[in-house]
Amino acid sequence: MDEEQHYQIERLQMVADQLERRGIVDQRVLQAMRNVPRHRFVPRQYRDLSYSDGPIPIGEGQTISQPFIVALMSQMLALQGEEKVLEVGTGSGYQAAVLAHLAKQVYTIERHELLAKRASKELQVLGLDNVRVYVGDGTLGLVEHAPYDAILVTAAAPEAPRPLLEQLAQGGRLVIPVGSRGAQFLERWQRKGASYEQDVSIPVAFVPLVGRHGWRE
Ligand code: SAM
Repeated sequence: MDEEQHYQIERLQMVADQLERRGIVDQRVLQAMRNVPRHRFVPRQYRDLSYSDGPIPIGEGQTISQPFIVALMSQMLALQGEEKVLEVGTGSGYQAAVLAHLAKQVYTIERHELLAKRASKELQVLGLDNVRVYVGDGTLGLVEHAPYDAILVTAAAPEAPRPLLEQLAQGGRLVIPVGSRGAQFLERWQRKGASYEQDVSIPVAFVPLVGRHGWRE
């Protein structure tokens, strides 16, 4: 068995044990996570942990999120395939690769240039040409491609940044961890006319969202 086959078996097991068993039901999300080679987004020295049930360091003090959290946040966006999506916090690029299978066009923004470069290269190698990577402060959103049908923030904010709420299309969803620097809850905001509906999901622990509408450095 070659390395790719070995990782594929681990990946299918990860989807069954960590996702389906814990209640991820969106079939498109499950299929995307069976397809995306997570190990390609994990630094070489941690590659054997790629399909384990936790976050993994990716450099610059950042992490690639636990598979279950990637699946849950993706499911909360309720994507059908035709959407324009913004991700804030590209990190390794793994979540962006999953979103690329679920939506029509993905824009993702990362404040660390090195991480953005690496992610962009890997996404390109995998042929995911519906993802574009930007470097900058994602708390400001990405005005040039707004409005978005869905916005996913993969770092912890003190509150939902106003520019991101404003860049949602009508009916658009924002999923974001909100709370203190150490502990947060996943929130989903949906734009309805002039206001927003909001609901709260499970407790999580993300690295901080650092920027003008996030935490200070
Ligand atoms: N989605 C990533 C993945 O699949 O690997 C995991 C992201 S990691 C948990 C959070 C990322 O958010 C880090 O790479 C961090 O540098 C980035 N980040 C923090 N504040 C940011 C900001 N204001 N704008 C853009 N990226 C930010």
